[in-house]
Amino acid sequence: MELKNDTYQLQGLNVTDIAKEFGTPVYVYNADKIVSQLQNLKNAFSNQELKIKYAAKALTNISILKLMKKHGAGVDVVSIQEAQLALKAGFTPDEILFTPNCVSFAELQQGVDMGLIINIDNISILEQFGHKYRSSVPCCIRLNPHIMAGGNAKISTGHGDSKFGISIYQLPHLLRVVNTNDIHVVGLHMHTGSDILDAEVFLKMAEILFGVAGDFPDLEFIDFGSGFKVGYKPNDIVTNVYDLGVKLGKAFDKFCEAYGRKLEMWFEPGKYLVSESGYFLVSANVIKTTPATVFVGVDSGMNHLLRPMMYDAHHEIVNVSNPKGIQRVYSIVGYICETDTFGWDRKLNEVREGDVLAIKNAGAYGFSMSSNYNSRYRPAEVLVYEGKAHLIRERETMDDILRNQVEIEI
Ligand SMILES: *Cc1c(COP(=O)(O)O)cnc(C)c1O
Repeated sequence: MELKNDTYQLQGLNVTDIAKEFGTPVYVYNADKIVSQLQNLKNAFSNQELKIKYAAKALTNISILKLMKKHGAGVDVVSIQEAQLALKAGFTPDEILFTPNCVSFAELQQGVDMGLIINIDNISILEQFGHKYRSSVPCCIRLNPHIMAGGNAKISTGHGDSKFGISIYQLPHLLRVVNTNDIHVVGLHMHTGSDILDAEVFLKMAEILFGVAGDFPDLEFIDFGSGFKVGYKPNDIVTNVYDLGVKLGKAFDKFCEAYGRKLEMWFEPGKYLVSESGYFLVSANVIKTTPATVFVGVDSGMNHLLRPMMYDAHHEIVNVSNPKGIQRVYSIVGYICETDTFGWDRKLNEVREGDVLAIKNAGAYGFSMSSNYNSRYRPAEVLVYEGKAHLIRERETMDDILRNQVEIEI
């Protein structure tokens, strides 16, 4: 979003016009930003056989999936339903990595039947997999390196207490299961969690993966997961993918030489690709002055954007209706009957009732974590693509609230 001629714009379109056309609350995504983030990664790892598997759970709209497909990405899915969406968006099964966690063996078998690349993160599931398929179905193994990474323990998935992956300390047990069942392991995977600050964590993780890779002679790829950090606040440190490309690229090439073959390097970014592309537009319903603060109550809440309440995530907020207004301090809150604060003590250009506010970094884990709490409709989604604003999801209606409810005689 850029400020041009005193109006906030996306690809030359006035953001307030988008809000007027589609109503608020509405999620708006800038396709150009998604494409340029993809390109950044490709450029950073241009010397490696890079495959990007977009983590679909960050933003699962089918039109976004199609955009990823068009620009050469594969996809990482965590449920059979996400896999079905990816197939519908045009991905072939061999482009889809299925990385579920704590699912039944039955769901894993469904993934095999669909022809997905299977990523296994549990020894008991691996045993069942081996008994059933032996070497006939290749698989990837998700390891837990026990590195404490990321902003906080809720979004960090690679540490010792985390439920994700097979512990690196269980390697002997893991190898016994692989070898006695003749399991065909083609990939090793790690995903240590979101918001990794620098290349060093990736490098540490890489060294661990390289260290165990020698025990798996049939590898075709190594998947470094994600955790790329994007800027939420103006001066946030972000993952420098070019720096990472140089350092990790060099380490990877050296490893491949020792391994004896050039392997593919995989990443599964979610947030990195879509977070900054998204703006959540809401309207100021009321301005409420109390002895403590001035509240702006907006036509949304934790039902639509949960990250500030669930993760204490900071999302920048801009008053797009009043770019020249004087700055005042506000607390921006939702309309849900819970304490659903989008931001405390934020400096915004003067907010008047009816103004449109843009909540930034709303592309990742925004709509995809939304709910119908308080029987509110989930918002519409709009993709700004090739200079035009396209509706890519209709706002819900009362029919959606009532769907699947069964009214009995009482
Ligand atoms: C959520 C998830 C990702 C994406 O994480 P981001 O922080 O959004 O980049 C990647 N891989 C797996 C297995 C995930 O569960």
